[in-house]
Amino acid sequence: MPRISKSMADALSEQANRELASAYTYLAMSAWADEQNLQGASSWLRIQWEEELSHATKLIDYIAERGGRADLKAIPEPQADYQGLHDAFRSVLRHEEEVTGAINQVYELAVAEKDYATQTLLDWYVNEQVEEENQPAKIISMLDLAADSPSGLLMVDRHLAGRARVE
Ligand code: FE
Ligand code: CA
Repeated sequence: MPRISKSMADALSEQANRELASAYTYLAMSAWADEQNLQGASSWLRIQWEEELSHATKLIDYIAERGGRADLKAIPEPQADYQGLHDAFRSVLRHEEEVTGAINQVYELAVAEKDYATQTLLDWYVNEQVEEENQPAKIISMLDLAADSPSGLLMVDRHLAGRARVE
């Protein structure tokens, strides 16, 4: 018998699907940045892709730990083209704001069901979203400072190249 409700497992599965959709979006964006010769941005986005995969698997593993099974659905095709780095990171910020909203909704369900274990798991995601929104917001600010100058853009790209993988 699963030790997690069907509704809770389904909500977490849907969240895993959203994390995989995020991953796919970052991977497509990384390919776009690579094509634009923005190697730093491409590398940053590739690291974020890996991070999103871990967000998804963490949910899938948790459902399994509670005796359930993740119900995975199709992942939508990601946006392939962007107007520029500004546009790309504005889109990242909008996307992460949506993810935050979705996580809050899953959290509300866990509260309604008095599922404290899931609330504890979701606390991690709530905290993670603070970073996920702050990162693109900071990068957008840097791009604002660069004000579309080629040298400014290269400096931002070099800065993005410095992002390290977190194990
Ligand atoms: Fe995520
Ligand atoms: Ca993160």
